[in-house]
Amino acid sequence: MTNIYKQIFKEIEKNDKIIITTHIRADGDCVGSAIGLKEIIKSMYKNKTVKASFENMKFLSFLGSPDKIEDDEFKNSLIISVDNATLDRSNDPRIQLSNKIIKIDHHPNKDPFGYINLVDENRCACSEIVFDFLLNIKNPSISVDGLEALCTGILTDSGRLSYSHVDSRTFMTIAKMIDMGIDYQKIINHLDEITKEELRFKGYVLSNFEETENGVLYIKITKEMRDKYNVSYDEASNMVSELSGVKESPIWALFNEAHENEIRCRIRSNGIKINETCEKFGGGGHENASGIVVDSFEKCDEVLNALDELLKK
Ligand code: AMP
Repeated sequence: MTNIYKQIFKEIEKNDKIIITTHIRADGDCVGSAIGLKEIIKSMYKNKTVKASFENMKFLSFLGSPDKIEDDEFKNSLIISVDNATLDRSNDPRIQLSNKIIKIDHHPNKDPFGYINLVDENRCACSEIVFDFLLNIKNPSISVDGLEALCTGILTDSGRLSYSHVDSRTFMTIAKMIDMGIDYQKIINHLDEITKEELRFKGYVLSNFEETENGVLYIKITKEMRDKYNVSYDEASNMVSELSGVKESPIWALFNEAHENEIRCRIRSNGIKINETCEKFGGGGHENASGIVVDSFEKCDEVLNALDELLKK
């Protein structure tokens, strides 16, 4: 076992109460890595209390629900934060009540907030790192549900094994999971599921996206539009990948109005580094998948101008 896995393993052994937290606005990788890690600890230590805190997302409900956790529990638990780059983006602010936080992540490590940091930004998903941790344990054990959660994390964060950072290890991980008993087809079917309303809204996005001078494709979504199509905020947010694949447009973005004065920018690229531009607007993320929260659609235009400059160069 390499040193860092050993250190984390020792801390898990030492603590009887463990809470796993993630990042705000849950996605498949943060829910997948949280449930996967919880299932590893649960199957290896029957007497430990291990709970996972994450935002409930309808499209991920097949993986399981978050646990109810009292404030006091945070004070005397070991916290393991998965898939979260910075402390201020933790899904659960009560994480700060604990003085024992371990960070497991695959984002650039700009805020190494844990006393142990297992961070590898070359892995396509945090769930991959959790699976590596499992394989490095002497007598590893995990339920099939846990493995399916990890597999979901890898599939969602890698765009079904299509983004950069997918490498031979990723394919070997999925192959190993299939050998260990996951129902791969079931996961794909869950992830493919879509409502008729979403399908109609997809049609709207595909026929109404716009373009900047140098080819950044984008769509601005207001609450009014979502209501008209009867889709939720999260269902609308998920449409970001619909704008991918146009050769002349290697940057694309979806702007989704959450509330008055709060618009979430989801920005993606193919081969162009966008996270530094997002950081200038207070956001961040990966080189090819980043986000920002801004307070107006005018600010979105400023973001678009900056992204357009990247394409111009
Ligand atoms: P999303 O579009 O929400 O899937 O985000 C893509 C990536 O960018 C994820 O790794 C997020 O953690 C990160 N990200 C999204 N929004 C922000 C933000 N406001 N600040 C920092 N990182 C963000």
